[in-house]
Amino acid sequence: MLSYRHAFHAGNHADVLKHLVLLQLVRYLGQKDKPFWVIDTHAGAGAYDLESAHARKLAEHEGGIGRLWARRDLPAPVAEYVDLVRRFNPGGALRKYPGSPFLALWTMREQDRLRLFELHTSDARLLRGNFEDAGRRVLVEGTDGFAGLRALLPPPPRRALVLIDPSYEEKQDYERVVQALKDALTRFPGGTYAVWYPQLTRLEARELPQRLKRLPAKGWLDATLRVREPARDGFGMHGSGMFVLNPPWTLHDTLAGALPFLAEALREDAGAGFTLDRQAA
Ligand code: SAM
Repeated sequence: MLSYRHAFHAGNHADVLKHLVLLQLVRYLGQKDKPFWVIDTHAGAGAYDLESAHARKLAEHEGGIGRLWARRDLPAPVAEYVDLVRRFNPGGALRKYPGSPFLALWTMREQDRLRLFELHTSDARLLRGNFEDAGRRVLVEGTDGFAGLRALLPPPPRRALVLIDPSYEEKQDYERVVQALKDALTRFPGGTYAVWYPQLTRLEARELPQRLKRLPAKGWLDATLRVREPARDGFGMHGSGMFVLNPPWTLHDTLAGALPFLAEALREDAGAGFTLDRQAA
């Protein structure tokens, strides 16, 4: 049974990195007229109330989007992301946080399609409710996103971004991610695949980016954002990464302009920093 609820973590430093990269990837696909799909295999609830008991318990957003909210010196890609979160908060105060489904949808065009999977019964219900007025553009499935991805590839328009954003509450998720991508690259080698992963001391987390680098994609980009030193007791997440297979060529330079700012703005201690690596096609 799944116990992870993204409501406890919405808007934290990991969401900032993930959603900033997501927006850049969707925007790039929208530069050509031809339609595309965004497939979000682990969609969450879609939207989060930052004043709810869940969000207030850890108040993780205060160290993430909260640190960017009032800044007037944001680099362009960060400003673009914060502007979309502002659209979710028309009153001006930061009260709500949009998940990956809304951020993707607002960056897509009429002709593009969003396919969402969420396995947790309560979050799947919330997700359905959040998108009930979205019409044919958005399809929500309350089923396993790894299996759902297999069934959708290759997508009809032959252009797609896949976001794989598990909670990794089960350590098998590391293996599932690698296997899902091997299969996906066989069915649809031309897709863009973005995988979020946590920076933890546990071996599976440390090995994941190395395993992703060995997959048979045309190129990859690996961006990490660390906000603190790893805890001495080995518990807790000190940062996270976004690993993109078949990335747009512009992504590296865009992130090179944003990550130094984010590492400073979201810094918790002297362990804060970022890395940005790539292998071009
Ligand atoms: N992508 C969301 C965002 O950025 O707003 C956050 C997703 S959260 C990190 C991971 C979600 O995956 C949780 O809501 C969890 O219930 C869900 N989940 C876990 N295993 C799943 C699976 N096999 N298929 C689909 N969803 C799953």
